Amino acid sequence: KTEVELKKGLPTNETHLWNAITRYNPDAEPTVAVSGEGSWFTDENGNRYLDGVSGLWCLNLGHGRQEIVDAAAEQMKALSYFPLTMNHKPAVQLAGKISELLGADYQVFFSNSGSEANETAFKVIRQYHIQTGNPGKYKIISRYRGYHGATLGALSATAQANRRVKYDPGVPGFLHVHPPYSYRSLFEGTPEETDLKAADLLESTIQHEGEESVAAFIMEPFISGGGVIVPSVKYIQRVQEICKKYNVLLVMDEVVSGYGRTGEMFGFQHAEGVQPDIVTMAKGLTSGYLPLGATAVKSEIYEVFKKQGKDNHFRHVSTYGGHPAACAVALANITIIEKENIVERVKELGESKIGRLHLLSDHKNVGEVRQAGFLVGMEMVADKETKEPLDDEKMGSILAECRKCGLMIGRNGDTVPGLNNVIIIAPPLTSTEEDLDFLVETVESVIRSL
Ligand code: PMP
Repeated sequence: KTEVELKKGLPTNETHLWNAITRYNPDAEPTVAVSGEGSWFTDENGNRYLDGVSGLWCLNLGHGRQEIVDAAAEQMKALSYFPLTMNHKPAVQLAGKISELLGADYQVFFSNSGSEANETAFKVIRQYHIQTGNPGKYKIISRYRGYHGATLGALSATAQANRRVKYDPGVPGFLHVHPPYSYRSLFEGTPEETDLKAADLLESTIQHEGEESVAAFIMEPFISGGGVIVPSVKYIQRVQEICKKYNVLLVMDEVVSGYGRTGEMFGFQHAEGVQPDIVTMAKGLTSGYLPLGATAVKSEIYEVFKKQGKDNHFRHVSTYGGHPAACAVALANITIIEKENIVERVKELGESKIGRLHLLSDHKNVGEVRQAGFLVGMEMVADKETKEPLDDEKMGSILAECRKCGLMIGRNGDTVPGLNNVIIIAPPLTSTEEDLDFLVETVESVIRSL
């Protein structure tokens, strides 16, 4: 058979594809995407959409960057695959570059996804405490609404009931505390005051559990899938102080916020003086062009593994982790981010263009607009006084109306029952000014017509 004949035999519908979302999300009619250009993609019927959520906050540089495509092709030709049980050049170079961007010395372990990057972190943490004479330190604290991945360890750190309920009890030793969610805080006061009280909850949890048993605290600098929560800078600084005080390792999950999305290269860099013990990343690391996860571990921590020799090395391996082509793509991606001043661009256009969404705060159904750079959550309510969440049907219709106009936006997953009411907007960081005008105007007109 010829190649053309063979291709003709391939199915054109999705009978056999187990799609993660469309089967349960009534807002999401199946879409078969066939091509992309910049921030836009085209489906099989020729409809064009602006991707207002960058795929799943992955596609930071948009579709079709020739430099990235070339980097992958050249690397595949030069060295198609090589395991990271040995070294290859793109991985060596990328690890060094990541460490430089993080602003301190880190040792980087590569994997394939955000979930795997977090799983790697959890194993590093537990082994580190054993090897430094604290074998009782195994508990990992995360926050309600946080998302850290789909695999059982990462899911155990993901404190969103509906994602977990059918798969619990999960991995033992994971605990959760409330996030700094000032819009619906447990506490009274200004956002900064309530955020600091949320940090105090971390301290009292460590005290109640016993500091000799608590190993680490993991947080997204900006909770993303759990409803875009923007903390005050002081919260992040206070959390670091608490972690240091109790020898609890601080892990920043930068899977969404890393590589410019919030107007700094990494989300934690908004908070002066904060330097996490471990940083996990994926998505924006390659702008989604190839799968790659990374766990960056402070070199002091790595030294403990190195010194212990072969009996105590890190017993963890990932066959495809740090694939040469994925590392080459990440390097090309970072080069573009630096060359085109993407982080500055996000800061500026985040304010001048996307920031216009704040004007919608006067609408009766907009409870709060939360934003950091190109990451926006609009919390929709039926009543501003009671903060009753906008119902599912209306939420669905906002997304559907935007889609009819050629704009794909998202909403937070089915996280907390009754709180599935945050619209998520996170366009590619290279979206043109016209793209951003279209995005803002479409959202404005759909919401104003509610
Ligand atoms: N951490 C965060 C903050 C995420 O948003 C995600 C994915 N949405 C993950 C981890 C897991 O990444 P992956 O889907 O690549 O496993």
